[in-house]
Amino acid sequence: MSFFSTRGESCVTASQAILRGIAPDGGLYVPAMIPAVSPERLTKLTEMSYGERAVAVLKRFLEDYSLREIEDAVRDAYSTERFTHPEVAPVRKLDQGTWALELFHGPTLAFKDFALQLLPHLLRMAAEKNGETREVCILVATSGDTGKAALEGFRDVPGTSCTVFYPLDGVSDVQKLQMVTTGGNNTHVIAVHGNFDDAQTGVKELFASEAFRQEMAMAGKTLSSANSINLGRLVPQVVYYFSAYADLLKAHAIAPGDPVNFCVPTGNFGDILAAYYARMMGLPVSKLICASNRNNVLTDFFRSGTYSTHRMFFKTMSPSMDILVSSNLERLLYEAADRDGNLIRTWMGQLKECGSYCIGAQRTEWLQDMFWADCADDKDTLAEIRKRWEQDRYLLDPHTAVGSHVLRQYRLATGDDTPAVVVATASPYKFSADVLSALTGDNAGGDPFKASEELERITGIPMPEQVKKLRELPVRHTAECDRDKMGEAVIRAFT
Ligand SMILES: *Cc1c(COP(=O)(O)O)cnc(C)c1O
Repeated sequence: MSFFSTRGESCVTASQAILRGIAPDGGLYVPAMIPAVSPERLTKLTEMSYGERAVAVLKRFLEDYSLREIEDAVRDAYSTERFTHPEVAPVRKLDQGTWALELFHGPTLAFKDFALQLLPHLLRMAAEKNGETREVCILVATSGDTGKAALEGFRDVPGTSCTVFYPLDGVSDVQKLQMVTTGGNNTHVIAVHGNFDDAQTGVKELFASEAFRQEMAMAGKTLSSANSINLGRLVPQVVYYFSAYADLLKAHAIAPGDPVNFCVPTGNFGDILAAYYARMMGLPVSKLICASNRNNVLTDFFRSGTYSTHRMFFKTMSPSMDILVSSNLERLLYEAADRDGNLIRTWMGQLKECGSYCIGAQRTEWLQDMFWADCADDKDTLAEIRKRWEQDRYLLDPHTAVGSHVLRQYRLATGDDTPAVVVATASPYKFSADVLSALTGDNAGGDPFKASEELERITGIPMPEQVKKLRELPVRHTAECDRDKMGEAVIRAFT
């Protein structure tokens, strides 16, 4: 199968798309043709383990990888050493007609592990296939979850290294501790004197700098990206939507062919886009419900057809969704535009020049047929955490709580009681102070360990080992740098 750029004609293989990350014209790689999954194949998934389901879905996209390569990568990525739950992505019943798809049993306790445990294998094999013998250096700017997930994924993977930049005072205590205690001989973590935008801009400048590329090339290294526009992050996320449906079938909660709705806490539009791909492949999904926090640019977009970044940016309790430019939306727009790369280029140009674009009434209606969007502020989020705990004895993290709240809003507004799955994107223990305050009104002084202990005592839900261990792990990464010295910091890290 080949992959096109959303902004032009470029045509590459899966491994080339993964190796390049972003297309040379600035577009994102999309499959030339969406593979179809028949109802019979769907039913067969019920008998399979998560790993087998992953192979069945991945091989449809990754045609220039051998079955053996995909199986090896999957076996390692979703092993019991890395994912602590035997089902990997279990589905839990919340109430009559509502389930949670738990994607937080991986090494870093957030859904990004599903893609970032697999991507290093796919990237290493892609380098081999395309005669790339240099060490592949991954550069990441993070506001929290992506950095740690990338570090864990690339840790000690031969032929790769991973360097993460985080804003010195811009991440939570747990997130920072998770990163600076990372092991492995090929990981680097550097604090930038600045905010997330500084780190992000700095990394983009390094990718664009010919001088930096040459300096790295002379040291036998080539650059690549692990952020969510990489095709190698999108495809692994399609798998768990199939897996959730298969689990509901297996539990006789639904019958073959029955529609389900998915409600997805959304930031960069990567996770929900994977659900849309699953739907296009034939998974019986009725509505995709896009849940945002107070940064509700997507809510407005799905309601009006106008995407506008002329708005305030808010720091919220669900920081991984604090984003104004959702990069992966471009892949959905490509379908809405009947795969017209010129139109995408026009819209993205307008976004860059004027901070907004408008897709027109007809395309907006086409989107509204599949998508429904709403948002939750921090007050709604806290109330939802409390409500789910009191009514259903289920503990939500703040991101998942946004999803759960928006699903209620959807049902109120539409009366649609189709079985629905809320995607649970992070463990509540990753945000224990806020979760505790939702239950008791007290946040243990903001101390994540005290809050976690208290949460465990009140709920009886065991604190994950990953959080417990953090307190004892030695700090291994102390490097800092100024915003304009990031290139030098990378070079220094390697010498
Ligand atoms: C990244 C993240 C999200 C948002 O996912 P997108 O793919 O960026 O839409 C939601 N919740 C958590 C916990 C995350 O880490």
